[in-house]
Amino acid sequence: MAPAPRPPSKRFDLKLRAAPAWTTRVHVGVGLFPALAADLAARPLADRYFVVGDRRVSSLHGERLSRALKRSGIRADRVTFSHGEASKTRATKRRIEDRLLALGAGRDSAILALGGGVSGDLAGFVAATWQRGIPLVHLPTTLLAMVDASIGGKTAVNLPQGKNLVGAIHQPHAVYADISTLKTLPDATYRDGIAEIVKGGVIADAGLFRWLEANAKGLLARRRAVVVEAVERGVRVKARVVRRDERETGRRAILNFGHTIGHALESVSGYRLSHGRAVAIGMAVEARLAVDHGSLSESDARRVVDLLETFGLPSNVPAGLTSARIIRATHRDKKARSGSARYALPVALGRMLPGSQVTVVIPDSAVRGALKACRSRRTRPLF
Ligand code: NAD
Repeated sequence: MAPAPRPPSKRFDLKLRAAPAWTTRVHVGVGLFPALAADLAARPLADRYFVVGDRRVSSLHGERLSRALKRSGIRADRVTFSHGEASKTRATKRRIEDRLLALGAGRDSAILALGGGVSGDLAGFVAATWQRGIPLVHLPTTLLAMVDASIGGKTAVNLPQGKNLVGAIHQPHAVYADISTLKTLPDATYRDGIAEIVKGGVIADAGLFRWLEANAKGLLARRRAVVVEAVERGVRVKARVVRRDERETGRRAILNFGHTIGHALESVSGYRLSHGRAVAIGMAVEARLAVDHGSLSESDARRVVDLLETFGLPSNVPAGLTSARIIRATHRDKKARSGSARYALPVALGRMLPGSQVTVVIPDSAVRGALKACRSRRTRPLF
């Protein structure tokens, strides 16, 4: 009998900060919890570990993680909270900290953040501030968290006045992206993550964009080798951008492609439109803006829209969300200066406007034109 094929797996070091230097070890593969446990047993980060994540993910994958840790003789307690963006608050952070206190966590502790971007941001922020900072390992379980939220060190909670208003930069020691956890991820949430990988191709990696065009079917079917490669390539793009500009004083802003319009759509839809779908539409509109601005060719913009559609992601502005409301919402974007929205625009697939001032002010009249061009009579309700 032929031996069973080895599950695809990758391990690599990411240099995430130039000075002082910081390296995060990234593992992308199938069934990684035993490898995590073996690594922690061989090179401990702390005396005690706390697995912090939302209850939905904890009930799906927490037990398997706890068993793997226990088998390697690692003591770990689970700290959970309700799932969803509504939990990303100061109140939840305080409850997690109270629980850590009750469980006797100290300076000799480390946090394992299990879940999507909400769990990563919350648990990461706790790790950043607990005893002035303890080690953090991300165990992302959504595609978005694997390629985006767990890479780059940003952690935060939301305030009623806005998203991510209080937070810290706290780089993880390691990231274990176990793609077997994606088996339980709903299709729409999976596609949300694909939107961020498409963005990575547009802003910094034409090869990734072409690879996505060629491998769309395998990625949609969640073929393991294809997912592992997509995650690895997405992670490398984000790391390359972050390494040069950890605190977003310059080029890190290219990651905002699709996000000025995307955030406005999320807000105007009352957050009924998911982040990934909003960013997909945002990329289509901002690609159109880039064409109108004279920086991007019509054919490259077409390829962006075609790829989004191949992945079943929307590229049309939903009927019912008026351009006036969307434009008003862009003025509240955190990149806006003196009431004018700023945009990170591509000049070609894989390349953005050069220099450190990567965002440009676009007049509202031009934005109105691009929004109009991205409306279709065929547009169906999206939420
Ligand atoms: P999320 O963490 O809320 O996960 C989405 C939903 O999927 C949740 O209900 C969760 O319980 C569920 N889920 C997670 N993994 C699952 C699995 N394997 N199987 C079944 N269900 C699962 O949201 P998200 O989309 O992963 O992340 C969005 C958050 O990430 C936002 O708060 C955003 O601000 C943040 N974010 C942060 C960064 C950063 O750099 N720190 C970057 C991008 C996004």
